Amino acid sequence: MPPDIPEFILPAIRAMKGYQPGEQPQGATSIIKLNTNENPYPPSPRVFEAVQYVLTGDRLRKYPDPNGWNFRQAAGKVLGVDPACIVIGNGSDEILSMAVRAIVPEGGVVVAPTPSYILYHTLAQIQGAQLKELPFEPDWSLDPRKLQGIGHLTLLPNPNSPTGTFIQPDKLKDWPTPLILDEAYADFAVGNGLHLVEQNPHIIVTRTFSKAYSLAGIRFGYAIAHPTVADQFYKVKDSYNCDVLALAAATAAITDQIYLHETRNKILTTRSRLEQELARLGFNVIPSQANFVWCQHPKKFEKRIYEELKSRGILIRYFHYPNWGNGLRISVGTDAEIDQLLDQLRTIT
Ligand code: PMP
Repeated sequence: MPPDIPEFILPAIRAMKGYQPGEQPQGATSIIKLNTNENPYPPSPRVFEAVQYVLTGDRLRKYPDPNGWNFRQAAGKVLGVDPACIVIGNGSDEILSMAVRAIVPEGGVVVAPTPSYILYHTLAQIQGAQLKELPFEPDWSLDPRKLQGIGHLTLLPNPNSPTGTFIQPDKLKDWPTPLILDEAYADFAVGNGLHLVEQNPHIIVTRTFSKAYSLAGIRFGYAIAHPTVADQFYKVKDSYNCDVLALAAATAAITDQIYLHETRNKILTTRSRLEQELARLGFNVIPSQANFVWCQHPKKFEKRIYEELKSRGILIRYFHYPNWGNGLRISVGTDAEIDQLLDQLRTIT
């Protein structure tokens, strides 16, 4: 433990490294940014109208609705769920944090697959809990039976990050312990587990506006949970966790499902081209159900490829998972961005 950290900071916090989000280069506009799974297309035009409306009115002076009622009603209609089941969050990261705070005791156990979303480690560490990792099977499936019945809370991204792999949600329907189905990328997948929430009160689905809705900058996510669970999350969250701009933007975005499907379809078309071209370049590519592609190179060290691309103005994400291995996660950009990435990769690999 570094000696210069004041002792009044809790030991669990002093000991942890802290989550390292993907780089957000400041100022440089020429960089092709394919490292944090942002959407390359703008949000729905309705979002700009809604934000403008907030800015021109008297709304910035007042606190936002702490319960996000307008959003919950709009989302309830679109998703076909009771608004009482919806919890609003400052990004889905905040929802994950609420879940850990509400469910996992100090000294408890959080379960998550590996390789997976590294933030889960951080959330467990903040809570003074232990993270139990369950490796994927060699074919990238995950045997849900191996995860069941252990730990206070299981965090399962579906589709998974960084691999983009997907587990048929119905395989999880009888889950006997609290399970967060982290569906940050479900808008790009062939299915989702929303229907499981009604069937099994242990299951909580989390979603984000950062990916398919192109709103990573405003920070908005939500959970769908059994209403009694949702009520408990409202006790844990900060009173005004979502600001007026985020609430207005998210409400406008979710009501524009046609726009969502248009951008999603463009991304899926580019994704399959990216997968094919990476395979042609010699990468081992896993078919993705998300807005990114995970690949490994049988001969070249992936970190070198990442560094080489970075030096040429293209940012992708290199991951190293201890006891597991390395890989590259490439967000699906516009066709032009992906063309430039592939051109550079042809000269590197
Ligand atoms: N879950 C997963 C698996 C993610 O990759 C991310 C994005 N980093 C999130 C949740 C959080 O997304 P946000 O907080 O932007 O809603």
